[in-house]
Amino acid sequence: MKDFDAIIIGTGQAGPSLAARFAGAGKTVAIIERHKFGGTCVNTGCIPTKTMVASAYAVHVARRGAEYGFAANGDVRVDMRRVKARKDEVSGRSNRGVEDWLRGLKNCTVLQGHARFQSPNTVALNDEVLEADKVFINVGGRASVPEMPGIDDVSFLTNSSMMDVDFLPKHLVIVGGSYVGLEFGQMYRRFGSEVTIVEMGPRLIGREDEDVSQGVREIVENEGIRIRLNAKCISLAKRDGGIAVHTECDDGPPDVLGSHVLLAVGRTPNTHDLGLDRAGIATDQRGYIIVDDQLQTNVPGIWAVGDCNGRGAFTHTSYSDYEIVADNLFNADHRRVSDRIQAYALYTDPPLGRCGMTDAEIRRSGRAALIAKNPMIRVSRAFEKGETQGFMKICVDAETKQILGAAILGTGGDEVIHVLLDVMYAKAPYTLIQRAMHIHPTVSEYLPTVLSKLEPFA
Ligand SMILES: Cc1cc2nc3c(=O)[nH]c(=O)nc-3n(C[C@H](O)[C@H](O)[C@H](O)COP(=O)(O)OP(=O)(O)OC[C@H]3O[C@@H](n4cnc5c(N)ncnc54)[C@H](O)[C@@H]3O)c2cc1C
Repeated sequence: MKDFDAIIIGTGQAGPSLAARFAGAGKTVAIIERHKFGGTCVNTGCIPTKTMVASAYAVHVARRGAEYGFAANGDVRVDMRRVKARKDEVSGRSNRGVEDWLRGLKNCTVLQGHARFQSPNTVALNDEVLEADKVFINVGGRASVPEMPGIDDVSFLTNSSMMDVDFLPKHLVIVGGSYVGLEFGQMYRRFGSEVTIVEMGPRLIGREDEDVSQGVREIVENEGIRIRLNAKCISLAKRDGGIAVHTECDDGPPDVLGSHVLLAVGRTPNTHDLGLDRAGIATDQRGYIIVDDQLQTNVPGIWAVGDCNGRGAFTHTSYSDYEIVADNLFNADHRRVSDRIQAYALYTDPPLGRCGMTDAEIRRSGRAALIAKNPMIRVSRAFEKGETQGFMKICVDAETKQILGAAILGTGGDEVIHVLLDVMYAKAPYTLIQRAMHIHPTVSEYLPTVLSKLEPFA
């Protein structure tokens, strides 16, 4: 039995920083990784996908060369092996960075293998048993593989196996029209694949407002991506050397015949093989570990951080989990998950930046609110760049004048949204933005103009 002050299971976006915090405070810490250092974001999520989104954007701009005043001689041809090599280089750099960082920490023991609880304060891996008063679970999640008919008869891709693809699928059929499916869909369309997105719901990214779903749909359809909605009973079968995805859509023939299928239908927490029952740790029906507002599980001395607690599904929510736990343990600063304001981006081009409530949520809340919306075509910077798709939408509380939520679907939307987000954290009225002098020409400079058009919800 090896004794530590803390054990951390998983090297996602919270674990390594926690390890460094414990080690820096002179505490002994063991951190355990069963696969690749850095977890999803570094190896199969944000970093590789955004690197490939950048390649796809470059291809897209090159194809539009004539609009900008240059001619690319001949066709723009994509070499998927080089796209993959660039992605591997960027992702590999982060992966090595996390491992080197952890191995270089004094007081930190790095172990590789699959960790399982033996009791609330003991964890087994390989032939060892580790003991600590504090255990932090940062095991993340994996792509969900639903039990749809035919799933065992065909080969399919997930966000993880997509990382090994170094060729151009002729026709990529993506099951799932949400964030992951849309990002892969647009990038592969730009690389040159035919792409069909099959979505069970009545619209893409169903958790967003309808105008956002519609705006994103128009952007991807303009690039030749086919969308099949209301695919209630999806099944898969081998056909003609490819894969037939049966959709039962409202319109169009019921089967889509593709060369490859990517499943992008959500994530499942990696909690089924952790021995949680031996430690008595409670999960919800979907396997997420139940935590309180400071991320403690029902068992004293055990915390769950990152995607596996169901309180966020992003790199920034996982890192924020680390900050909350560390500040509570080391600084007596009683930060809570409920202090956070929802914020995220969809990395289509143009991207969607989101913060706070949707207008549907605001309507349901019953409060008096104002809304303003403006198309990106009015924004000088967007016009100059030749990237005028999308819109900006901001909702504010009619009484307090505080911003309740916003969606910026347009060039720079993932960055511009932070202007609004920070004003929300400051609990300042929106009028503050109207009094500030902004830089011209930027997308952000248009926010005061949007805000000058606020009117009551229809
Ligand atoms: C395609 C895709 C794109 C994404 N893009 C974005 C984006 O642009 N922005 C964003 O904010 N988020 C994005 N995300 C989400 C983001 O990747 C995750 O929210 C983020 O990685 C946080 O993960 P985590 O810290 O919970 O753990 P993970 O990063 O999932 O890491 C968990 C680690 O634990 C290890 N592990 C699991 N079980 C055990 C065990 N029993 N023993 C030892 N080790 C174990 C795993 O091997 C893994 O390394 C994306 C996700 C996907 C799939």
